[in-house]
Amino acid sequence: MASIFTRIIEREIPADVVYEDDLVIAFRDIAPRAPVHLLVVPKTEAYENVVELAAGDPALLAHVVATARSLAAEHTGGDFRLVFNTGEGAGQSVFHVHAHVLGDRAGLSEGSLGDV
Ligand code: 5GP
Repeated sequence: MASIFTRIIEREIPADVVYEDDLVIAFRDIAPRAPVHLLVVPKTEAYENVVELAAGDPALLAHVVATARSLAAEHTGGDFRLVFNTGEGAGQSVFHVHAHVLGDRAGLSEGSLGDV
């Protein structure tokens, strides 16, 4: 079955898309844990997590990071945290690799820093 993110890519379910190209899509997290909380998602669902992506397609991982950087320049003034939850025990809930781009740390509520 297609991942929830593939269904967003296919426009089967709506999302607030902020960027898209041939390789990746980026949209706002439905449950933001920071004032700016974007997800950058490779369009392929071949990789479950960042470890698999790094081993299988390092150029695509580099493109995810470059996309995060340019989105952060646009949405957060430049500085950002990049989070790849890897494995259920670390909080990963969607097994289609994705990067969380988190910005505006000053606006984070107390206690939420590790809760991504
Ligand atoms: P993970 O927990 O796997 O690191 O991150 C998955 C993220 O996807 C979560 O932060 C969750 O809020 C977000 N998410 C799950 N389903 C949807 C959805 O349908 N739309 C959007 N925009 N985000 C989603």
